[in-house]
Amino acid sequence: MVLPTRVTESSHALTLTADVLVIGGGPAGCWAALSARAAGASVVLVEKGYVGTSGATAPANTTLFYTVPGDTFQNDAMLDDRMGTAQGFAVRSHVRRVYDETTVQIELMTRWGYPWPRNEEGKAFCGNLRGPDYMVFLRNRLLAEGVRVLDHSPALELLGAGGVVAGAAGIRRRTGETWAVRAGAVVIATGGTAFRSGTVGTHNLTGDGYLFAAEAGAGFSGMEFSGQYALAPLEGGLTKGIIYFSGSFSDGAGQPVPRNEVAAALAAGRQVYAVLDKAGPYLQDGYRLGQPNIFVYFQRLGGNPFTDRYPVKLMYEGTVRAAGGLAVNDVCATGVPGLYAVGDATTREILTGTAMSGGGPAVAWCIASGTWAGRDAAAFAAGLGDKAPTRVFAGLGQAGLRPRVAKPSVDAATVTAAVQAEIVPPAKSFRRSAQALAHTAGVLDGLWAAVRDGLALDSAYPTPDAHARAVIRAREAAALVATGRWITAAAQARTETRGLHRRSDFPARDPSQHHHILTGGLDTLWVRTAPAHEEAVAA
Ligand SMILES: Cc1cc2nc3c(=O)[nH]c(=O)nc-3n(C[C@H](O)[C@H](O)[C@H](O)COP(=O)(O)OP(=O)(O)OC[C@H]3O[C@@H](n4cnc5c(N)ncnc54)[C@H](O)[C@@H]3O)c2cc1C
Repeated sequence: MVLPTRVTESSHALTLTADVLVIGGGPAGCWAALSARAAGASVVLVEKGYVGTSGATAPANTTLFYTVPGDTFQNDAMLDDRMGTAQGFAVRSHVRRVYDETTVQIELMTRWGYPWPRNEEGKAFCGNLRGPDYMVFLRNRLLAEGVRVLDHSPALELLGAGGVVAGAAGIRRRTGETWAVRAGAVVIATGGTAFRSGTVGTHNLTGDGYLFAAEAGAGFSGMEFSGQYALAPLEGGLTKGIIYFSGSFSDGAGQPVPRNEVAAALAAGRQVYAVLDKAGPYLQDGYRLGQPNIFVYFQRLGGNPFTDRYPVKLMYEGTVRAAGGLAVNDVCATGVPGLYAVGDATTREILTGTAMSGGGPAVAWCIASGTWAGRDAAAFAAGLGDKAPTRVFAGLGQAGLRPRVAKPSVDAATVTAAVQAEIVPPAKSFRRSAQALAHTAGVLDGLWAAVRDGLALDSAYPTPDAHARAVIRAREAAALVATGRWITAAAQARTETRGLHRRSDFPARDPSQHHHILTGGLDTLWVRTAPAHEEAVAA
């Protein structure tokens, strides 16, 4: 056993108390922490990597959707555009609420001194956030506001106190020491998961927060909308999609491949080549200035992507910039008292429907959901009054953390590879079928049984940090298996093709399935439907 079940003053090397604990330091977690702090709460933020460089935004360059104050025409056009791609699930009033909240917070960022690019008249362009600049800015803001940040300190489990979520415990990567934070409320901001497909920025995203929340009793919505793949150069991992709007595609024989057939061709195993020959000099300069990391690959390998064709591949992004995740209400509460979720960790169905959430809405959602959750979590914690720190705190973690057998035989690497083989390949998740899903469900059930028994940890790790890594990997493997099972159960329940859920055996959309699919559970999974929002149905 790694972590003591009962948390007391002396059970962990580091024990902290806070009104609000945020798990995950991507943009959504940073906004939640800042919002809770602004509401008067004391805040601790724990991060598996380093706040500023970890997560999906840090190495990316994200387009941001926000409504321009007073520009009704542009704002309506933007909303119409989003509703058009949502495949029937987005709720217009919710989309507007997210964008309006984002605009308010963007103005706050401007007052904080965020260095927006400006045109010759000095007008700020707020439609783009360069990942590294943005995340470092947020980090500095956290520190300036007095948020206690623990880098390289992944959470391994939530703490409960009488049916209420009351903190979390984890481990410090570098020293192997355990930590516990007793908190009035907890915000899960651990992002989505790409199942370690290699997509840049997603390595630390292993679905940990999903597992923690499920162990506390939370459920999911829209996990079937996780068939998100993106293009990357064959030997690269950066899946920036914007450049491909300027691309032409061809196959090995040089025959053109229409843009809307590229993903299907790659999923079917054909090699496709891209050349960005539709970008004129202005756009080329724009890409080089705005998306410099894309060109690192070409500088390394030689070749000019604007004139030379290069091979591309599909990379799995799973629930990162997709649509499914933890089910939350309008203040991002999960329904489990004291537990909130934000950003990619949550379902985004009523924001982006069943389509990809990247390209603007996802980043806006991080700001809005973080703001709402942080504020409400602070109020929840304040409502606990003096009794918050005196409660009895117990660890809720099980699979991958607290073995049930003395000598587990399977290790985390074997389990992780087996899950990846079921979820990551386009042949499995780009287009699904009843037969393939049934096979995957069987494999994952077997893996779950093994993980529940326990994962083998070599007791002879030479250094504390090596031991810490092994403990973290075991818990990550458990989270990946659990997430694969929720995705598979939801995908089996939706017998139609809609947005990011494609079925070869049900290739058309079925109007009778205009409902959400909810799922959850650990040893025994549950699946049920919930009606689509009445505004979405009316639209
Ligand atoms: C290539 C790419 C381009 C994109 N472009 C756009 C775009 O143009 N527009 C747009 O809107 N969106 C875009 N997105 C999506 C956007 O980046 C994500 O929606 C956003 O990063 C989600 O933020 P988050 O804070 O929820 O999660 P993340 O940014 O992924 O952060 C989650 C954090 O949680 C940490 N964590 C995980 N587990 C634990 C644990 N157990 N304990 C502690 N910490 C943990 C991770 O280390 C990570 O730092 C893009 C995504 C990618 C991959």
